[in-house]
Amino acid sequence: MTVVCKHCGSMDTARVPRSGLWDFVKYVADRFPYRCRSCSFRFYSTTRTIKKGPPPVHKATIEVRAATERELTAMLLALSKAVEAAVEQKSKVPQ
Ligand SMILES: [Zn+2]
Repeated sequence: MTVVCKHCGSMDTARVPRSGLWDFVKYVADRFPYRCRSCSFRFYSTTRTIKKGPPPVHKATIEVRAATERELTAMLLALSKAVEAAVEQKSKVPQ
């Protein structure tokens, strides 16, 4: 969840470390300190953002073995056509 700057409305904000007594008071009130990267305004929010890692990557490894190069080429060509057909079929399915 993005925390919007209360001064300029920018969404380019970041959690900053707590410091000082006022931050402790805010901590007790369940407020988290943020700083706007656009205007440097420091403010508090009840939103606690959690740093997310990169989105998951879906991958597969396929090993194709053939006796001859010609056979391998034919198998890869058939596999390529099958993948193309599957992708095309998937794009036709309404979301
Ligand atoms: Zn700002």
